[in-house]
Amino acid sequence: MSDVGNKEFSGAAEYDVKSIKEEFPILNQEVNGKPLVYFDNAATNQKPNVVIESLNEYYRLHNSNIHRGAHTLADRSTIKYEDTREALRRFLNAGEVEEIIFTKGTTESINLVASTLGNQILNEGDEVIVTELEHHSNIVPWQMVCERKKAILKVIPVLDSGELDMDAYSELLSDKTKFVSCNHASNALGTINDIRTIISKAHSIGAYVLIDGAQATSHLEIDVVDLDVDFYAGSAHKMYGPTGVGFLYGKRAVLESMPPYQGGGEMIREVSFSGTTYNDIPFKFEAGTPNIGDVIALKHAIEFIENIGKSNISKHEQSLLKYATDKISKIDKVRIIGTAKEKVGVLSFIIEGLHHFDIGMMLDSRGVAVRTGHHCTQPLMARFGIEGTVRASFAAYNTFEEIDTLIEGVEKIAKLAR
Ligand code: PLP
Repeated sequence: MSDVGNKEFSGAAEYDVKSIKEEFPILNQEVNGKPLVYFDNAATNQKPNVVIESLNEYYRLHNSNIHRGAHTLADRSTIKYEDTREALRRFLNAGEVEEIIFTKGTTESINLVASTLGNQILNEGDEVIVTELEHHSNIVPWQMVCERKKAILKVIPVLDSGELDMDAYSELLSDKTKFVSCNHASNALGTINDIRTIISKAHSIGAYVLIDGAQATSHLEIDVVDLDVDFYAGSAHKMYGPTGVGFLYGKRAVLESMPPYQGGGEMIREVSFSGTTYNDIPFKFEAGTPNIGDVIALKHAIEFIENIGKSNISKHEQSLLKYATDKISKIDKVRIIGTAKEKVGVLSFIIEGLHHFDIGMMLDSRGVAVRTGHHCTQPLMARFGIEGTVRASFAAYNTFEEIDTLIEGVEKIAKLAR
């Protein structure tokens, strides 16, 4: 029986982007008669062979429901599923494997915390702090629970650079603050937030902290113990893994204090009509049959990142970002939105006089895939007085030649602006 292997990359000495790119079959195609340049990585990045092969192999050889089967396939699937939990524990440097809960993605992870712990501890007049930089999925779940519990949502404002106003944050904190929920890196502007300070300040007044790591997992080193964060959420599809899977890290004591999220199979210890008792963590939060094949494939995505080395990927992406930023800044009528000192590989821009969607379509005709619009950050767009941006976001497999193609396109398109 085959097992999906992992190609080793010698990332450190010389970053071999050609070999890395070859691991992504989807990138080897033409779009509109031009070689595909995929710069929509902040929305979802592409999947390497090891992930695709894992999915294929799972359904060809191992498919079975997990945890209670008295047969070989069930045992095998269970072991593989739990292996991913250990891989994620290692990836986040969590202390215990039980602190990793599988979810559908970052959105579900945030909803889980807001609707369990949020519902449990918030009272009328309590406050939850989010930031103006957040994705809707780190705003709306908190709005919903605040509305239910008559709590108040407070917002850390964003400076013109796209960085958080940390003085304003300090002023917002009070004994009414029960949660602070903030992203590690912004999907719309790329800003990397000073989460260490955010966490320690929130803890100093006794508030819980959730970090939305959707845009950080494949770019930034994460050590949840060192950060002392209560919750950290992420999505597999933004870390070279499949869609429909994500995770929530939570500190053991906090997870154990929380009520379950959904009811159903797996999350129970014993069910009777006189009362039901719940399973231990992490299973208490994993009701129903999970997304087994995709969870298993996530382990291969994690190993893919680890084999190249996250710091090597990050260095490469930072070089791409600098190269692209320098070039695009020289183009007349282009305005970069988000000029924070610390950014992941996200370049958001507008061209004065042109609609972002039209720019996206014109780039697509040149084979360049970018995202346009509000990027699920409407309050942030409102802060900058715009409807949306064009966003090019970079991943391990992107090249400097691809940036040249983007820049060439933007130069031509900018000439159309009046
Ligand atoms: N948070 C951020 C910063 C994101 O970029 C995204 C997705 O773009 C999400 C949350 C939501 O992730 P998902 O749709 O995978 O649940």
